[in-house]
Amino acid sequence: GPADTGLGSWPSRRARISPHRTALVQADRTLTYAGLAHRVDRLAAALTRLGVRRGDRVAYLGVNDITVFETLFATALCGAIFVPLNHRLSGVEIGYMLADCGASLLVHSADADELVAAAGALPRVLRTSEFDAEINTEIAAGGEPPAAGVTFDDPCLLLYTSGTTGKPKAAVLTHGNLTWNTVNQLAHFDVLSTDRALCIAPLFHCVGLGQITLPTLFKGGSVEPVAKFDPGVILARIEQAGITGFSAVPTMLQMMCQDPSWDTTDLSSLTCVLYGGSPVQERVARAWLDRGVRLLQGYGMTEASPGVSMGTHDGTPEHPLSAGVPHFFTDMAALGHDERATPFGAEPAELLVRGPNVFAGYWNRPQESLDSFIDGEWFRSGDVVRVDDGWTHVVDRVKDLIISGGENVYPAEVEAVIVQLDEVESCAVVGVPDERWGEVGVAYVVTRTDLSESALRSHLEANLARYKVPRHLCFVDTLPRNATGKIRRVELRAMAARSFAPVEGAE
Ligand code: ATP
Repeated sequence: GPADTGLGSWPSRRARISPHRTALVQADRTLTYAGLAHRVDRLAAALTRLGVRRGDRVAYLGVNDITVFETLFATALCGAIFVPLNHRLSGVEIGYMLADCGASLLVHSADADELVAAAGALPRVLRTSEFDAEINTEIAAGGEPPAAGVTFDDPCLLLYTSGTTGKPKAAVLTHGNLTWNTVNQLAHFDVLSTDRALCIAPLFHCVGLGQITLPTLFKGGSVEPVAKFDPGVILARIEQAGITGFSAVPTMLQMMCQDPSWDTTDLSSLTCVLYGGSPVQERVARAWLDRGVRLLQGYGMTEASPGVSMGTHDGTPEHPLSAGVPHFFTDMAALGHDERATPFGAEPAELLVRGPNVFAGYWNRPQESLDSFIDGEWFRSGDVVRVDDGWTHVVDRVKDLIISGGENVYPAEVEAVIVQLDEVESCAVVGVPDERWGEVGVAYVVTRTDLSESALRSHLEANLARYKVPRHLCFVDTLPRNATGKIRRVELRAMAARSFAPVEGAE
C-alpha cells in the first residue's frame, strides 16, 4: 500500500531522526520521541482491537496533558478522526457534539469523569488510566499498528468552532491541512530541536495544536502541555525550565503582564511568543515588546488549521500591532462588490483565504460548506481586514458590525478607544435595535478603578466621530467569555436587547 504520510506517522518518523530527544514533558512524566512512537504504535493496535476503523470518529475529553497527544497520534495512525472536545462545556453540549460527529469511541481522562456522566447517551468509552494496560496487552501479543496508508487527503481532526456566532459546527481538517499549516508556521518563526515550548492554549482549540505545538513536535523540540492556566505559575515555569516559546490568546498575555511576579520574572529564555484568536489591547502587546520579547501576532481561524497570517521577526518591530503578512503557502484576497476575489485596495474588505491549509468543509453540513467558499476556492473568513503596505490589520467580524444611521461602526475600533483609559480593564461594544437609527451601540465596560460615565463619554467624544460613540454605557463586573477568552457577543447582544431595545407592539 501507499506510505503513511499522516500525523500518526510523525512520532516514528521523528524517532528515526532524534529518538532520544524529549518529545513531551509534564510534571510526573517525560517521553522521548522513541518512547512516544513505541506507545503510539501499541495504542493504535489497541484501538484497532477495540473496533476503531478508518474514518471513525474518536472523541476526547480532558485537560491538556500527554495523553491528548498519544490519543491524537494513535487515532491518526488508524486512519480515524480525532475529535477533541471542550471539557468546560456542559453535559448537554457534549452530548450534542458526540451525536453530531457520530463518535464511535470516547476517550477521557479522570478530570472529565463528572462531565462524561452528564453527557447522556455515550459511545464506547476508554479511560486514559487504562492506556498502560492496553499498551502492555499489545506488547505481550506483539500487536502492530494497522497499515492504514493514511494520505494527506484523509480527514485527521474535527474541531468544533467556538460557536460565538451560532450553533457549533465542526471543521474537518485533513492530514494535509495540518501538515501545510505546520510548514507555514515554520516559515514564519524559528523553531529548533533544542526548543522547549509550553502548550497553554487548550488542545481542543486550533491555537493550542496548530500554532506552536505541532511545529515544535515536527522539528523535534519538546512540548510541555499545561493543564490549567495560572499566570503566576506559567511565569515561574518559563524562568525555571528555560521555556523558549508558547502560543497564547490575548487574555492570557494580559493576565501574565498584570501578575505580581511579572516584573521580577526572567523572560530571557523566550525566543518567540505567539498570540492570536482575538484582538489584543495595545498596552498588553507593548508590555511584552517592552520586555524585549519577540512577540508575533498570528491571525487565523479553525477553518485554516489555523494560520492565515503572522508577524515576522524582521518586520514586527515596525508594525507591532499588525497581524502580519500571509503565511508562505496561503493567499489572501478581498471580497469585491461583485462577490468575487479581488486584490486588496486601501479600503477594508471581507477577507478571502486560499491555500493547502484551508479546510474542505464542515462535518455533515454540505450546504454551509458550499456557501463558505467563493468560486469553490476562496474561503469567506467573515472578517473585515485592512491591508496596509502588505501588512494585515483585522478590523472586525462582519457579523459584529453595527450599522447606525447608515454608517458602519466597527465595535473593535470603539473598544480600542475605551481601553485606552487606564481605569478600564476590558470592554465590549454590541449593537441593539433602535427605531430611529436602525441600530445603536451599547458598551459594556469592566473597570479596575473608579471611572464615571461622564468621564468615559468625554473620552469617547474626544476620540471618535459622533455616530461611533455608543448610546448606552454600562459598567459591569465581568464580560461573558468562552474557554479561549473570547467575548460571547451573542449573550451580550441578548442582554442589550432586553435592556434597551424598543418593545414591539404590546399584546
Ligand atoms: P464561531 O465561528 O463558532 O463563531 P470563532 O469564529 O470564534 O467561532 P475560531 O476559529 O476560534 O472560531 O476563531 C477565528 C476568529 O477569531 C477569526 O475569524 C477572527 O474573527 C478572530 N481572530 C483570530 N485571530 C485574530 C487576531 N489576530 N486579531 C483579531 N481577531 C482575530
